[in-house]
Order: sequence, then C-alpha cells, then structure tokens
Amino acid sequence: MTQLSCAEARALANDLLDGGLTTIERSDIFAHIATCATCPSLYRSLLAVRAALMAASPGSPPSTELRRKIAALIDRGPSG
Ligand SMILES: [Zn+2]
Repeated sequence: MTQLSCAEARALANDLLDGGLTTIERSDIFAHIATCATCPSLYRSLLAVRAALMAASPGSPPSTELRRKIAALIDRGPSG
C-alpha cells in the first residue's frame, strides 16, 4: 500500500469517482481519507457535485457502491 499525500489523493479524486482507478489505487485513497483531517471535506463536496450531476442526467449513474463506501468513510471521519 502506498502512503498518499493530500495532493495525490486529491489529484486522483475525480478518477476515483469516474471508476477509473485500480483496486490498489482505490485502497490507497480510502486509507488516506480514513486518516486525513482535510480530504474528507473535499470528497464530500465532490460527491455532492456528482449526485447533482447524476440527478441532472440519469442516463449513466456512477457506481452507487463506490459512492456509498466513500460516504461511509467521510461520515466516520479521521480515526486518529
Ligand atoms: Zn489528505
């Protein structure tokens, strides 16, 4: 597992929500979100934007499971 910096985690955020990352890359990001104090708010904003976009164009919904997993991490907050 790679220890991501905030910049790296944020750079990969859109790719993650697009479903374009490998399982390993996702694991790295989830691990970062779970422990970072600032990234969860960024991901929360991105999820809100994605939800709005999905509502506007229901033809191609992103992965509900993925969004649910990210939301669960955000709700839990940093575990440190
Ligand atoms: Zn971070």
